[in-house]
Amino acid sequence: MVRPIPCPHLAQVRPVVPRTPEGCEECLRIGSRWVELRLCLTCGHVGCCDSSPNRHARRHAYAVGHAIVRSFEPGENWRWCFFDERYV
Ligand SMILES: [Zn+2]
Ligand SMILES: [Zn+2]
Ligand SMILES: [Zn+2]
Repeated sequence: MVRPIPCPHLAQVRPVVPRTPEGCEECLRIGSRWVELRLCLTCGHVGCCDSSPNRHARRHAYAVGHAIVRSFEPGENWRWCFFDERYV
């Protein structure tokens, strides 16, 4: 039996303050729209989800290496690792 390896990126998680609580940082800048928001748990970047046209949360993760986001939607508190592609 193979044991699941714990996500090594959990070490990146810090107490963060959302940098742009009003919406996706890049979408606000370029005047685009988003579907849902994700909060980077390493630096507080707020980006849009994979259902949004620009997927800024994923792009932020790959651009700067911050793996873990949590949902920034009211009532949702799950965390997702972009590099392991799973909930953590
Ligand atoms: Zn991970
Ligand atoms: Zn966006
Ligand atoms: Zn970040």
